[in-house]
Amino acid sequence: MKQLIISSIILLSTLIAVGQPQKKYAMAIHGGAGVMDKKNMSPEMENEYIKVLNRALHIGDSVLACGGTCLDAIEETIVILEDSPLFNAGKGAVFTHDGIVELDASVMEGQTLKAGAIAGVRDIKNPIRVARTVMEKSEHVLLTGTGASQFAKEQGFEPVENSYFHTEKRLKSLQELLKKERESDTNDKHGTVGCVALDTYGNIAAGTSTGGMTNKKYGRVGDSPIIGAGTYANNQTGAFSCTGHGEYYIRLGFSRDISAMMEYQKQDIREACRLEMEKLTRMGGTGGVIGIDKNGNIAMEFNTSGMFRGYIKSDGEKEVAIFK
Ligand code: ASP
Repeated sequence: MKQLIISSIILLSTLIAVGQPQKKYAMAIHGGAGVMDKKNMSPEMENEYIKVLNRALHIGDSVLACGGTCLDAIEETIVILEDSPLFNAGKGAVFTHDGIVELDASVMEGQTLKAGAIAGVRDIKNPIRVARTVMEKSEHVLLTGTGASQFAKEQGFEPVENSYFHTEKRLKSLQELLKKERESDTNDKHGTVGCVALDTYGNIAAGTSTGGMTNKKYGRVGDSPIIGAGTYANNQTGAFSCTGHGEYYIRLGFSRDISAMMEYQKQDIREACRLEMEKLTRMGGTGGVIGIDKNGNIAMEFNTSGMFRGYIKSDGEKEVAIFK
């Protein structure tokens, strides 16, 4: 009985906090865009990717189906991808020029326009959780390096050794890149994971987590922790998470630009994402974007040969794909 009363109070306070529930929810994920050739990927490897993408979608779907918020769904979904060595985020992230891993992540909530991000951290197992904590427990939006790690410790996160993130595959990519320093287009340069979600309360949010780009130097930070570049969410327009060559995304104010097209030009989410990808292509940038609007419409655009991606909706509609 006592348990029932407590549960009812929690449910009631959640409803007051986030509004009345509606039935519809949806979410989309990406695991990075890049040069991907079906011929070069073994069926076993393809299956591995599909399995983890499905698992991530399944977790997010369960959170949303149980009345969790879009932020809860994004956090739990991205943690699955961060913990998988297959993606360039958390475990399995790419190496910097100096042979270490430095991670970036961000989240943004569309109802309040609150956001949180961390950049260049070396000892945080799940950067997306700390990004959310920055948003909810600090007065800041973006914390970097050792300061972000100190904040995480103060908030109760256990640091991990940098070696936790290291994988053979990423080390090989760095070594290959170092060998031909100036040739930039290897298979393994992009990665990154992201999630956008609409919850049953009608709110949307976005999150992105990455190791950045292989061989990055000088404390380079890409678009992923930059609100308005790699991540953006606004209930009035859409929520977006990007992957690709971050410098181009920052220069375009990529995800904020999509939101502006929707707000001022009344473009729908797919058209706005498509038009922004065209701008990126014209500038010479490569990558992709996923987006969701408050009606659960989903966009997944990329100008590379593949993007690990998937979506799921409350009516059961679902897709997981890798290649174009
Ligand atoms: N956008 C990320 C960055 O530039 C990398 C990626 O998505 O692959 O740091």
